[in-house]
Amino acid sequence: MNKQYWNFSAGPSKLPREVLQQAAEEMLDWHGSGQSVMEMSHRGPEFTQICDEAEADLRVLMDIPEDYAVMFMQGGATAENAILPMNLIARNASHSADYVLTGIWSTKSYKEATRYGTVRIAAQSHQAREINGQAYEPWTWVPAFEEWKVNPDSSYLHFCSNETIGGVEIGGLPNMQALGADAVPLVVDASSHFLSRSLNIRQTGMVYAGAQKNAGPAGVTVVILHRDLLGHALPYCPSAFDYVNVARERSRFNTPPTYSIYVAGLVFKWLLAKGGLAAIESENINKAKALYSQLDNSDFYHNAIQPEYRSRMNVPFTLHDDSLNAAFLDGAKKQQLLNLKGHKSVGGMRASIYNAMPMEGVMALIDYLKEFERQHG
Ligand code: PLP
Repeated sequence: MNKQYWNFSAGPSKLPREVLQQAAEEMLDWHGSGQSVMEMSHRGPEFTQICDEAEADLRVLMDIPEDYAVMFMQGGATAENAILPMNLIARNASHSADYVLTGIWSTKSYKEATRYGTVRIAAQSHQAREINGQAYEPWTWVPAFEEWKVNPDSSYLHFCSNETIGGVEIGGLPNMQALGADAVPLVVDASSHFLSRSLNIRQTGMVYAGAQKNAGPAGVTVVILHRDLLGHALPYCPSAFDYVNVARERSRFNTPPTYSIYVAGLVFKWLLAKGGLAAIESENINKAKALYSQLDNSDFYHNAIQPEYRSRMNVPFTLHDDSLNAAFLDGAKKQQLLNLKGHKSVGGMRASIYNAMPMEGVMALIDYLKEFERQHG
């Protein structure tokens, strides 16, 4: 147990050791209350404090103004892919929404939304493309914001800001005015890089994220929604998923995922103590830079993503010879470098370096990359 393991898994969860330690210490008796957080009434004073503090801390971390509701929901981002159109697609008379497709997750969101209204594709990277003389495979590049064709009377424009499987990250936000659609709110699935970088919430209508990469354990989905967008739920939207109810009851319309909210709250405090999102973003930039430089400095490894859209969180790469994959993974495991196998749809390797992965872990991986290349190159 004292061995240092580095877990590069894409999920469900990567939590800071200090947070896990604190949760373990408080497991049986939270702050002298005589109860575990799991045993508390979700309407009692102790959990009310935990939930309110989590919301308040997240508001500080992300600079979320009061005209946005912060909701802790259940069902993961997959459920949110349905809950979102059920709540928002009827904002306009034509019940339509626009989606940008940049990989597997945004495509899933799009497909789910088609069940609830007219859904258009504003831009997509499902085909190969040459950019600056370089050939890119499907889902390894991103259509530039200027190419997004947004219908001005769309109920919202959806995109996924970090494609966890493809390793494609869209760091900025499009200027909706420049796209001729300033009345269209942006909706962002930020699941796999939530709280890893700054994000101007004021430029969005809604941001949602399954907590389980950077923000906490699986079980809680964070939804941040501009209150102007409330009140358009389709008649068949379950009441537990109607944002009006969840926002009004401050995430306690029904029993929320109390323990996951509590741990997410500890993560928010951990981030605040570190110096907030600017501080963690700078760590994440350094970690990603170090890893991508190592991959780029060798013909042995390859990352195929358009450089300006390379994810800081999920770094897919291949070895120049696929037949070495098993030996690579085997050797990595012996060095306590876990879960480097790529997603089955992409193959190769993937190193997920979420907030809780320190530079030390990334350096251990880099040392291994060098050593494996020395032995097999
Ligand atoms: N969106 C993104 C970007 C994801 O990475 C994931 C899961 O990894 C999902 C959506 C689906 O999340 P969940 O499994 O919590 O429903």
